[in-house]
Amino acid sequence: MAINDWAAATGQVAGNAGAYVTGLFTPSVRIGVTGLSRAGKTVFITALVRNLVAGGRLPFFVAQAQGRIRRAYLEPQPDDAIPRFPYEDHLARLSADPPSWPDGTKRISQLRITIEYESQAWLRGAADKLTGGSLGPKKLHVDIVDYPGEWIVDLGLLDLDFDTWSRDALIQARAAHRVSAAKTFLAYLDDMAARTSDPEPVAIAGAKLFTEYLSTARAAEPALSVLTPGRFLMPGDLEGSPLLTFFPLLREAGEVEATPLQALMARRFESYKSQVVKPFFRDHFARLDRQIVLLDALAALNQGPAGLKDLSAAMGTVLQAFRPGANTLASRIFRPRIDRMLFAATKADHLNRQSHDRLEALLRTLAQAGISRAETAGADVRVLAIAALRATREAEARAGDDTLPCIIGTPLEGERVGTFDGKTETALFPGDLPIDPKGLLDTALPDDKFGAHDIRALTFRPPRITVQTAAGAQPALPHIRLDRAIEFLIGDRLQ
Ligand code: GDP
Repeated sequence: MAINDWAAATGQVAGNAGAYVTGLFTPSVRIGVTGLSRAGKTVFITALVRNLVAGGRLPFFVAQAQGRIRRAYLEPQPDDAIPRFPYEDHLARLSADPPSWPDGTKRISQLRITIEYESQAWLRGAADKLTGGSLGPKKLHVDIVDYPGEWIVDLGLLDLDFDTWSRDALIQARAAHRVSAAKTFLAYLDDMAARTSDPEPVAIAGAKLFTEYLSTARAAEPALSVLTPGRFLMPGDLEGSPLLTFFPLLREAGEVEATPLQALMARRFESYKSQVVKPFFRDHFARLDRQIVLLDALAALNQGPAGLKDLSAAMGTVLQAFRPGANTLASRIFRPRIDRMLFAATKADHLNRQSHDRLEALLRTLAQAGISRAETAGADVRVLAIAALRATREAEARAGDDTLPCIIGTPLEGERVGTFDGKTETALFPGDLPIDPKGLLDTALPDDKFGAHDIRALTFRPPRITVQTAAGAQPALPHIRLDRAIEFLIGDRLQ
């Protein structure tokens, strides 16, 4: 698609979207929630919506602390083409006996919550003086868009042709620590017979092996950020589509003409860019006002310095997508309008509160390069350690003369450390983070030294929540710093 067509298509989407009709009367803020699989997106949105709707304990959410929120409620979302975030289903899982964590994000979805509030002027009584009466409550639509972080890395594909992408992808597959995951796929590529057969079955079989390799590599490196195409790992509604039926393929030495198989692969790669990657960035990403990126820093920490470096690269990639470089195709075809970006380390309830500041310091160190760039470009970037839904509480244990800061929770059955039945509450010393996180990024550090800061990242049973009491009340959910996240994302829009 030429760039001019692209611009026209953008206008068309804007004209068609229902948001622009309702948006004329009530201001809205569109918040993207992203992060790699299992980072905590689903739990975050569920807890955020519940705490807003139920008027939870949110002391650092200023409008609420000042008593200016009249009510918050769900409304039909403005975009009919996007699936709705299944909030009620997730709540049902958390309120079952025993409760269980909801299923994580697999595709894009959306939810609209409307907040009715009184302005700051109302609080000061100024409205009454000016008008002789109350100005009446104001309204804000908060549109939450949940999407897999895996899709963001695809932005880099827009500037690549098939041959360049193939070369890079095969270098990654042959890297020492991935070559065993890629063994079967690489062997398939070396099979010359396959190259000369009917291209379609070869494409299907090769794409399957390539996808298996990506999934295996990803399972071994959960914080992994660099493997493309993102939809191969998180296909959303495209599972099984021909758009995902290609794999990297280099020409043989001396081969000038593309073989039918190469031509098919290159065509599919271009279709993937124009029919999957561009529409996502144009229709969803470019329309976001605010973004929260969730990161499971503790899982990365468990993988040692390499895992942390990977997480740092992931944060760099995300920031790059929000501030694309000057001469990239991305910068010519869309201009992100995000003015606030929040990086949140999730599951902070896996640590005692003494380590929460250290977790934030670690995240800040990992994101430093990208944060400076985004700030130069005018975005406000914040870093927070949060637990959207707190599954543990804190305690202190005595070990001789020492006091150990512990957490108490119910580890799920089969967790790695110790033997847990999934029912019994246990006090654990979760490990400690260093005051200065820089040492954690030293890949030369021997494993046993790094292990001194090893955090035991268990999965705890979620707290059982009550959707509604007999008296009609909706109890709020326990959290850590969720209110600060809410304040950063929407506080200034409720003045
Ligand atoms: P998604 O793939 O990004 O949507 O991730 P989820 O929201 O499904 O979260 C993945 C898992 O992380 C959940 O099943 C929980 O086990 C865990 N988790 C997420 N948020 C929290 C939290 O605030 N506290 C605790 N203890 N665990 C959490």
